[in-house]
Amino acid sequence: MQHVAKSLMQNYDDKQQQTLVIIKPDGVQRNLIGEVIKRYEQCGLKLVALKMLIPTPELALAHYSTDPKWALKTGTKAIEAAKSRGEDLGTDNPIIYAKKVRSTLKSFLSSGPVVAMVWQGMGAVAVVRKITGGTEPLSSAPGTIRGDYTIDSYTAANADNRSVRNIIHSSGSIEEAKIEIKLWFKPEEILGYRIISEEIIYDVNLDGILE
Ligand code: ATP
Ligand code: MG
Repeated sequence: MQHVAKSLMQNYDDKQQQTLVIIKPDGVQRNLIGEVIKRYEQCGLKLVALKMLIPTPELALAHYSTDPKWALKTGTKAIEAAKSRGEDLGTDNPIIYAKKVRSTLKSFLSSGPVVAMVWQGMGAVAVVRKITGGTEPLSSAPGTIRGDYTIDSYTAANADNRSVRNIIHSSGSIEEAKIEIKLWFKPEEILGYRIISEEIIYDVNLDGILE
């Protein structure tokens, strides 16, 4: 074991990357906690922090205000999606539309218990985004969590002036992850430990298998 641990990823040491995942109130209500955790766990990522809480509206709002580029990205995504459906959102300004989305998110995220987690491993941010799927469940790919377990759409959400219910939040970038993790977890709540499967996932020569 000693020998194997030393030969882990000598040339590409990215296995400490961390990302934040939140199972949103709709995911908890739909009894999907176990299923969601299973999907991230079975791909080889390591769970290093976990808690269940009811976010305050202030925390929910702060969460969607951490990345200064978020409003532009999310607003642009919404306006482009609406245009492709031939719908009018009442504004062509992405920042204004994102403001509206953010206020619906404040009540959505604080409407009940959520499960917040930090997942760690090689390319954790991108891997979690891939398994989570695209923002709008209607178009997120089958096989992803959002594609498999929800049917919501921008059109339905917009008609009822609410957030798209898509089960998961996951950090959109490494920078976003760093800020978000600090918002949800104290440093001492994030555990440093070794897990046996890492010996295989990151081992250089797989020479620790045979006795
Ligand atoms: P998240 O940040 O929750 O992981 P995401 O990164 O895929 O999702 P964002 O653009 O950051 O998507 O939007 C944050 C959340 O806001 C979405 O998950 C969804 O719940 C809600 N949302 C985003 N765009 C819209 C929209 N046009 N209409 C309604 N709700 C929206
Ligand atoms: Mg996001």
